[in-house]
Amino acid sequence: MIFDNHSHTTFSSDSEMEAEAAIEAAARQGLGLVFTEHYDYDYINTKHYKEMEFRFDAAGYWEKYLPYRGDSLRLGVEIGLSDISGEANRSFLQGAPFDLVIGSIHIIDMLDLYYPDFYADKSKEEAFGRYLSVMAEMLRQNSYIDVLGHIDYICRYAAYEDKELVYGDFAGAVDEVLKAAIENDVVMELNTRRLGDSRALQELLPVYRRYRELGGRYVTLGSDAHAAENIGMNFRTALEMAEELQLQAVTFRERKMEYCS
Ligand SMILES: [Zn+2]
Ligand SMILES: [Zn+2]
Repeated sequence: MIFDNHSHTTFSSDSEMEAEAAIEAAARQGLGLVFTEHYDYDYINTKHYKEMEFRFDAAGYWEKYLPYRGDSLRLGVEIGLSDISGEANRSFLQGAPFDLVIGSIHIIDMLDLYYPDFYADKSKEEAFGRYLSVMAEMLRQNSYIDVLGHIDYICRYAAYEDKELVYGDFAGAVDEVLKAAIENDVVMELNTRRLGDSRALQELLPVYRRYRELGGRYVTLGSDAHAAENIGMNFRTALEMAEELQLQAVTFRERKMEYCS
């Protein structure tokens, strides 16, 4: 069974997707599903913090969703990685026996990459360069994660005419991220949200081709759905891409990797 390994229900501050609706949407498509709720320890310290905490109680989550957990539904988390969140993340993960832990870069220097502030005083080269170097460093510091979330996250919000991560322009920095993932047994996520955009697809292919060349073998497919209609989004494209690049689609249960087919 192919799994959608990245989804957010109401335990995530920015999602109103009900668990039942998500499970139904996945089942209709014959997909397994992993809930990966947001835990961004740093978010309340950013200047855009208002009412959304991006934190939740691990034990409460586990208790509430445990009845749904089974062969086709797993319980995970997407934790935000930063210099100051390491200890908090580790203790958070003690709170429940998660199936899958995604590590993601959402905040750098206390600036949420979602907002223009991070880009305001930086050229694209500087912003993307810093993003990738932080990502490589966070992978080395947080090697306990199972999956690196959306390497192309910055492309969603970057305030530049060309938002794409062009491998040829950042080859050295991208290689450092891919090598850090491979050396620490962290699987690269193939985030499917942007794969419907032909330019995004065109620029992501060389990144994942390089991952394979450097020794990467596995990917998790993840839609990052915050609404039921986005579960499994662009999975056909993602599966074709994985097959072309000879990358094995995987999921996790009790933090152990399983092949998907
Ligand atoms: Zn994310
Ligand atoms: Zn997410």
